[in-house]
Amino acid sequence: MSSSILPTYNRAPLAFDKGQGSWLFTKDGDCYLDMGAGIAVNALGHSNPELVEALTFQATKLWHVSNLYEIPEQRRLADLLVEASFADNVFFTNSGTESCELAVKMVRKYWYEKGQENRVEIITFEGSFHGRSSAGIAAAGGEKLTKGFGPMLPGFVHLPWANHDAIEAAINEDTAAILIEPIQGEGGIRCLPDECLKSLRILCDKHDILLMVDEVQCGIGRTGKLFAYEWSGIEPDIAMVAKGIGGGFPLGAVLAKEHAASGMTAGTHGSTYGGNPLACSVGIKVLELINTPKFLNSVVSKSGIMSQGLLRLIDSYPDIFEEIRGTGLMLGVKCKCPNTDFVKGGYENAILTVPASDNVVRLLPALNITAEEVNEGLSRLEKTAVCLRNAL
Ligand SMILES: *Cc1c(COP(=O)(O)O)cnc(C)c1O
Repeated sequence: MSSSILPTYNRAPLAFDKGQGSWLFTKDGDCYLDMGAGIAVNALGHSNPELVEALTFQATKLWHVSNLYEIPEQRRLADLLVEASFADNVFFTNSGTESCELAVKMVRKYWYEKGQENRVEIITFEGSFHGRSSAGIAAAGGEKLTKGFGPMLPGFVHLPWANHDAIEAAINEDTAAILIEPIQGEGGIRCLPDECLKSLRILCDKHDILLMVDEVQCGIGRTGKLFAYEWSGIEPDIAMVAKGIGGGFPLGAVLAKEHAASGMTAGTHGSTYGGNPLACSVGIKVLELINTPKFLNSVVSKSGIMSQGLLRLIDSYPDIFEEIRGTGLMLGVKCKCPNTDFVKGGYENAILTVPASDNVVRLLPALNITAEEVNEGLSRLEKTAVCLRNAL
């Protein structure tokens, strides 16, 4: 049947009418445990009362004015992010891929202003994902994203995942920056060891190049720290953020050190919607709720429960599962059966998970999921494994 919607998605035959916390409800009243959280977006669950209040309060006052004027809510959110991170500056976007666009422009402009306009090469990695815009797909590379969409934006060098020697060998006088996800999300929950991020920082300092991290999926509390790069003790020069930062409201950001952002002067970039009062009011509340030691510690402890349970599942169902990956509430299970079969089997058992590359099933629940719900999720995952085993 032809559809009025451009058919770029293979959708599950499920439609939800209502959400509450980690639960989603269909019109018929069927209830699903949501361990996908809109692909790591609903960081504080569905219909979070405090976010609803922040949104509706702002909605009755002012939605949008454009960046022609001062936006106090935007200023406040930027101040909070600067206070909580390596960054000196923030620019707000509406999505991850827009954050990628700006981050790439920022790097190019940085070197241009230094009189090195040939220095445009950004090193990126196989299996990475930076969104679907022209810069995003060119940055990630790979046939799946780029085929048929050429010519690609030039200036990206794709290297094997986190191979230090290959990186060092690829660096030359035109190398402008290294762009990496501290944990690959779409690529199959592949964690960059803390030591690797540390040595990338050292490498960047040694060769005077910028370090960019894509924290669109792994940032905003997902790993138990506000940003995943914090685990390694380093500071990047530029970070791309989106997904969780709006808790479901479209919002993204580029965070940058003053030197890295120095080329981006008045008139060099813009966004009609980016950082509007409505989005930023929600973003402020998201950040206030997530960025406390108590909340972040709770992510770590629930991660412990979840990964222990997953390890038990792998032991019990070695014909279905291969290994568990990830950290915090960004976990992945590499499957032996097709991952999409497992995700579909999950629907039958009223649990939502998200497939990723490398035959991985992602578990990205709301960060405020309860320990009880984590255990309920584990039992539904087990039921799903039983169904799949019986079907083998
Ligand atoms: C989702 C994602 C993006 C793209 O974000 P959009 O909001 O879909 O444009 C970029 N980078 C990473 C790491 C992501 O997970």
